[in-house]
Amino acid sequence: MSQSAEEADRGPAFVFTGGSAPLDLVATLGRRRSAAPIERLPDPPALARWLIGSGQARTLTEPTDADLELALRLREAVYDLLRPLLDPPATGDADEAVAVVNEIGARPALGDRLVATAEGLRAEPAPGTVSEALARIARQATTLLGGPDAQRVKECEHPDCSLLFLDETQGRRRRWCSMERCGNLVKISGYRARRKRQPTSR
Ligand SMILES: [Zn+2]
Repeated sequence: MSQSAEEADRGPAFVFTGGSAPLDLVATLGRRRSAAPIERLPDPPALARWLIGSGQARTLTEPTDADLELALRLREAVYDLLRPLLDPPATGDADEAVAVVNEIGARPALGDRLVATAEGLRAEPAPGTVSEALARIARQATTLLGGPDAQRVKECEHPDCSLLFLDETQGRRRRWCSMERCGNLVKISGYRARRKRQPTSR
């Protein structure tokens, strides 16, 4: 993304390591389990930057406060529905979260369009509204949550990280949101040894 320098000025950088747009949306609230979560979508312009950065939109109408509220409702609904899979004893209010995903997913959604380039044809999200982009992500969330991939969603093992990702490795051995962000950090700092002595309540 050519926006990264810009983002550095505007707030916490986005993370796109989830392997799935709904998981990357959940990641816009960082350090969820800590006392000081990181809000990466503080205002409507941040939402527009996230949607473009995620590859789920190319050209969008200007987002409104209502769009941001809708995005945060979708984000938290997806997280609430994943929680029982991550912490088996935990149960969220599934009915309400299901209703949110269904309501947003039932709206008109951005489809793809074909673009002819010098390298050949490419599919990309068609221009549209923020609400349509969110409907597109809600439908992906429906496929993820209601299908076999839900069992592949994992939480990064770094004790301070709460990022979720789709483990697509064959033996389901992926442990970190990314090696660069957390895997190397844990190895370098010997975090693992400390964790054994002081189990954290993730
Ligand atoms: Zn991590």
